Amino acid sequence: MSPFRSHMQLALDEAQAAALRGEVPVGAVIAHPDGRVIAAAGNRTRELNDPTAHAEMLVIRAACAALGQERLTGYDLYVTLEPCPMCAMAMSHARIARLYYGASDPKSGGVAQGPRVFSHAQCHHVPEIYDGLRAGDAGALLKSFFDRLR
Ligand SMILES: [Zn+2]
Repeated sequence: MSPFRSHMQLALDEAQAAALRGEVPVGAVIAHPDGRVIAAAGNRTRELNDPTAHAEMLVIRAACAALGQERLTGYDLYVTLEPCPMCAMAMSHARIARLYYGASDPKSGGVAQGPRVFSHAQCHHVPEIYDGLRAGDAGALLKSFFDRLR
């Protein structure tokens, strides 16, 4: 048994890097429960001209590619913001074991509010969910990003 080690700082670093690229500052990490980081990414929807290029989608794709497998059974996903419905469903398809997220997202979140994807009967795999990790830091990044756009 290895002691719990949060990867939220790395996810926050990815969110910060995304902001510097002009992307909405959200970052995500996939880690093995033993602490090994498999993939880290921030939003790239603008850069890739891809509305599905959310941080969570990118880390799931990158981790699956790195591991050469279509599922991430047993792996942990860290993300700075509550996942949207698309990303929550992708986590279910990927069989993510544990989801750690930071700030809640009343506007677009799909986990604790809105569609509440994981509570639907047709969602066949539900990760353990831990919310509010470094929520203040994640929220501050988003706030300063959107304040600058005004
Ligand atoms: Zn998303």
